[in-house]
Amino acid sequence: MSIPDIDYSELQGRKVECPEQCGMCCLCQPEVLPQEMPFFRQNHPDHVVRSKSQDRHFCLTMKKGHGSCGFLNGRRCDIYPNRPTYCRQFPYHFYISDKIHVELDLSCRGVWTGRGNDAVEEARELAEASEKRLQDALKQATAVYRDFYSICRDAGVMSDVSMIRMALSMNIDKFTDLAYVAKIMERSLEEPKMNLDNLMPDGKFDMSEMEDAARDAALGSMSSDDPMCVPVYCDRDWNWNMFMATKDRIVWSVMDDNGDLHEKGTAAPEDIRLKPLEEGGAEVLKEYIGILNGRESFLGSVFYMMDQLDYEDDLANAYYGSMCVAILDLLWRASMLDHFMGTGMGAEGIREAIIFFDMDRLDAPTIGAFV
Ligand code: SF4
Ligand code: SF4
Repeated sequence: MSIPDIDYSELQGRKVECPEQCGMCCLCQPEVLPQEMPFFRQNHPDHVVRSKSQDRHFCLTMKKGHGSCGFLNGRRCDIYPNRPTYCRQFPYHFYISDKIHVELDLSCRGVWTGRGNDAVEEARELAEASEKRLQDALKQATAVYRDFYSICRDAGVMSDVSMIRMALSMNIDKFTDLAYVAKIMERSLEEPKMNLDNLMPDGKFDMSEMEDAARDAALGSMSSDDPMCVPVYCDRDWNWNMFMATKDRIVWSVMDDNGDLHEKGTAAPEDIRLKPLEEGGAEVLKEYIGILNGRESFLGSVFYMMDQLDYEDDLANAYYGSMCVAILDLLWRASMLDHFMGTGMGAEGIREAIIFFDMDRLDAPTIGAFV
């Protein structure tokens, strides 16, 4: 596949390293591709199982069924030269729509140090190694996207994607203001085809409604007592933190290298209130909104939502509304991390919340596919 077919823009200027204390991505159960199976069958037959997912692909076993990968030893990989493609690709994600866009998983702390290998060069090498798989996936996803666009046109809910993105970009400063976010959410429900022209926050909004929306969005992915089903937050001291929520309680635990959980604290969901941004927080948030606005997987998740809602909402309404929900989700998580760990709502606190949030964001249902 020729290089210009793949969009690497999200990686421009980024470097990636893999600090030896981390191992966070080894908590995500790695898929084993059919061509990788002979190595595992011959050398490590006890380390491979069928996944519970619909396609029943093969994957590696996890310690105690829910901890880190069985090959992780003192935070290093025992089979590093033979690790599956899934592991080699992390923290790069190849998102396939009717084009290929490479996205960087900001939950990996190695992308924040400013050191390491050039991200574009690394991703190009990975793309070359997976050329056939990418081409096959592109063919399938292109057909899905073609059908999707045709249904949208028939339903009269298609708007120009590049205009939507450009309008968001021009108003990006305002997206860090809760009053503006509230106004967009209101308009996205009231107007048949919204736009951001002349949209100004009027200062009056129902904060409790925003609190509810933020809490619901954030707790969606934490509502499980299975460590395999909740996001991991690798903190500055390389602890693997997990937050598991029921209706009445959020339990904060740290998972150790053997797969055992150690409880660190609890809180009632209502005790976590959205906190105001502190110095530097808005700048980091703005940068992240810009990244989401450029991601094809974000657009694919908006398309997925439109499909789920039977094409009742215009793309513009769904897009701006989804961005607002993502912002509320992130701010609620930042407030939760601050509640438990004192990370604050400044530049540092928002960065930690992005590290916690981005793996969930990239995991959102979409009509495209990650390969
Ligand atoms: S999450 Fe990033 S830094 Fe951590 S082990 Fe994986 S690739 Fe390395
Ligand atoms: S095979 Fe190695 S790199 Fe992959 S998840 Fe297991 S320990 Fe981590």
